[in-house]
Amino acid sequence: MGWTDERVEMLKRLWLDGLSASQIAKQLGGVTRNAVIGKVHRLGLSGRATPSKPARPAFKPPRPARPAAAAPSAPRRIAEPMAAVPEAPPVRYVDEAPGSATVLTLGAHMCKWPIGDPSLETFTFCGRRASDGPYCNEHARVAYQPVQTKKRSGPNDLARSLRRYI
Ligand SMILES: [Zn+2]
Repeated sequence: MGWTDERVEMLKRLWLDGLSASQIAKQLGGVTRNAVIGKVHRLGLSGRATPSKPARPAFKPPRPARPAAAAPSAPRRIAEPMAAVPEAPPVRYVDEAPGSATVLTLGAHMCKWPIGDPSLETFTFCGRRASDGPYCNEHARVAYQPVQTKKRSGPNDLARSLRRYI
């Protein structure tokens, strides 16, 4: 098959579109890749650089689809907030035996000293008889310890933050 004007135009268009010589040959039909390359050179279109390999870099720019293809990282992003769910500050909970009261059973005169992590099902309250405050004698002592010793341990802060739950 020869190079009719029509086919030459098509060749030019495809070449400028960034198709490789072999792709163009396939599109045109009846010509080999080498014939396409030869024609391209004769037409002075080779500015796009030599066929096949160097043609690829020229091929990439019109493909900003790549960043969108980076979308697979999106699911990972969804997982992050889930991991971040324990939004409560890293309070160091006193390691104690579970209390006898839960959020549901905690009564007015029971010690509201929290035991465990409020985000866990195992979370309980002390539940012992409260003295005059919200806590039993033992816990009241820890909760209302003097200010100077406060930074030594967390219970005081813990107690304060837990008021929100009570
Ligand atoms: Zn208690």
